[in-house]
Amino acid sequence: MRAADIADQLTTVLVTEEQIQERLDALAAQVVADYEGKDLLLVGVLKGAVMVMADLARALPREIAMDWMAVSSYGAGTKSSGVVQIRKDLDADLTGKHVLIVEDIIDSGLTLSWLLENFASRGAASIEVLALLRKPEAAKVEIDCRYVGFDIPNEFVVGYGLDYAEGYRNLRDVAVLAPHVYS
Ligand code: IMP
Ligand code: MG
Repeated sequence: MRAADIADQLTTVLVTEEQIQERLDALAAQVVADYEGKDLLLVGVLKGAVMVMADLARALPREIAMDWMAVSSYGAGTKSSGVVQIRKDLDADLTGKHVLIVEDIIDSGLTLSWLLENFASRGAASIEVLALLRKPEAAKVEIDCRYVGFDIPNEFVVGYGLDYAEGYRNLRDVAVLAPHVYS
């Protein structure tokens, strides 16, 4: 669905589907150049990164491998709990691999800093991060994010994989959820 289909439940469209695709094409070109001659493993963080992974991976004009990890740092609400739980670990052994973690959004940065620390002990040749969206709060935690799609204001957004209580992930654009939906 597009933002126009559920306009009554949204306040502002921050990034359109077209803008996302254009930006992902540009990021894909950077990734291809940076990983030339190296095997690349994309690690998607479920469930939010499903759309970014699918579109980024297909924008890459080269062979790559994909793996998935499921963690949770949010409950059903709109504020980060700060508690990270592994719900599904990787299938791949990271030893000697060039790993690019693909994330939907960096908000507090807690999830990613935890993940980076967790991955650091697994023997990867390199670990970098690509996030479609980043909120200003992310600046508070030291996170070295090599590829960022869009910096967005500090508001709760849905769409393109991002949910509110498991809904709205199938919205093709990224939009601010109207407060009346969750208050
Ligand atoms: P962090 O640990 O605060 O950086 O948050 C990481 C996770 O929280 C993201 O991967 C999302 O799943 C979720 N999240 C953060 N901000 C939003 C938002 O605005 N909408 C929906 N989910 C969000
Ligand atoms: Mg997520």
